[in-house]
Amino acid sequence: MKSLAIFPSRRDLRLVDQPAPRAVGPHDVALRMLEVGVCGTDREICAFLYGTPPAGCEHLVIGHESLGEVIEIGPEVTRVNPGDLVVPMVRRPCAVPSCAACGEDRQDFCFTGQFAERGITAAHGFLAEVVVDHEKYMNPVPSSSTSTTCATGWSAIPRSRSRPSSVARGAIATGCTSTTPT
Ligand SMILES: [Zn+2]
Ligand SMILES: [Zn+2]
Repeated sequence: MKSLAIFPSRRDLRLVDQPAPRAVGPHDVALRMLEVGVCGTDREICAFLYGTPPAGCEHLVIGHESLGEVIEIGPEVTRVNPGDLVVPMVRRPCAVPSCAACGEDRQDFCFTGQFAERGITAAHGFLAEVVVDHEKYMNPVPSSSTSTTCATGWSAIPRSRSRPSSVARGAIATGCTSTTPT
């Protein structure tokens, strides 16, 4: 399958051809990517201002605002079914045991800053034909969702209304890809 990736060490942006991933884990979900938004963050990544490949990898597949169709699920997946439309979350938890936010799967409130973000930092993004991730990172959206922006906004609403128990009351700013305490 084809994906679009930056090679920071060579200041290069190119198509990468590699085998499509499969949903091999019990909670894996494979998505056929339908749309991937391109925003100012992508522009800066492609200008090599930032963007960090996964450990041991020379390139970073870009793309973090996306809409995908479920095409394959692991045997224990319960949240989505093949044919569903989903917006995958961008941020992945840090590995610091004391981070209460990540411990509650609320990594958008991560206290350490050591999180990964697909398509931005330490994890490949969604500008690929097929991506695979754990079902807990999938936000199902209505089948009438026809654009990445619409679907991403829809998926962010319920998450913006709740926060980890460890986070004090305060203002919450919502963006297209994440929620952040301010
Ligand atoms: Zn963006
Ligand atoms: Zn964390």
